[in-house]
Amino acid sequence: MKKLENKVAVVTGASKGIGASIAKNFAAAGAKVVVNYASSKEGADQVVKEIIDKGGIAIAVQGDVSNEADLFRLFEETKSAFGTLDILVNNAGIYKYEAIELVSPATIQQHFNINVMGSLLAIREAVKLFGDKGGNIINISSGASNTPLPTGSVYSASKAALDAVTIALSKEFSGKNIRINSILPGVVETEGSHTAGFIGSDFEAKLVSTTPLGRTGKPEDIAKVAVFLASDDAAWITGEKISVSGGLYGV
Ligand code: NAP
Repeated sequence: MKKLENKVAVVTGASKGIGASIAKNFAAAGAKVVVNYASSKEGADQVVKEIIDKGGIAIAVQGDVSNEADLFRLFEETKSAFGTLDILVNNAGIYKYEAIELVSPATIQQHFNINVMGSLLAIREAVKLFGDKGGNIINISSGASNTPLPTGSVYSASKAALDAVTIALSKEFSGKNIRINSILPGVVETEGSHTAGFIGSDFEAKLVSTTPLGRTGKPEDIAKVAVFLASDDAAWITGEKISVSGGLYGV
């Protein structure tokens, strides 16, 4: 039996990058997957096609996680398609590094609306669908939560807030059979990290030079840990912040 056989999972921001890899790895592990996206319909459709071509089950559902009505619709469509929910991955997120002199209210609001409020409201809706059987939540945080870097004050603040959500809810869910954990990736090569200018930069070279495992991450590095956390192999793990960074953010 596959690790996520018969499980239903929602992965937010799964049209590309880390989210797309989590969706594909979940499907390979036997889960039925809801591939959420904000605007990249083509990317989400491609992820769904790759899953179906390999014999898996997936649907794409548009929805901006910072919009409550969209979130209602995302979980309604999940219920219509699959009748229940077992796993939520809050992966949708944005990251912008800029000097404090340049930070605007709009940048702060965007980070907190998507990275924090979107995750909180998605959890609220997911818990309703989990019902009495319980479920499993994975928040894709960042090494920037534990180890903030210059020009990353807004992003780091949003991910530290997300980790606080993980810890608070792990306790609030006591007795409800709901596990919740954060994954804290190091720098991972994705469309987003290319657009942000990290990949190929001096910043990336400096981080890699201090990374014990000596390379930038791949989306699969994160996705495999997500499969583990979502599975019964991690049955006694909740409220944890797990660094997946080649040792860069190790203790
Ligand atoms: P990415 O390549 O930029 O992809 C972001 C995904 O999130 C896309 O599918 C995008 O959908 C979706 N998204 C963005 N805003 C959304 C919204 N409001 N509602 C729904 N979906 C939304 O990002 P990534 O690099 O894979 O990062 C994924 C997560 O990992 C983020 O939470 C990020 O903070 C975290 N992380 C990344 C790294 C890294 O180095 N890459 C390191 C640490 C942590 P559309 O394409 O439709 O816009």
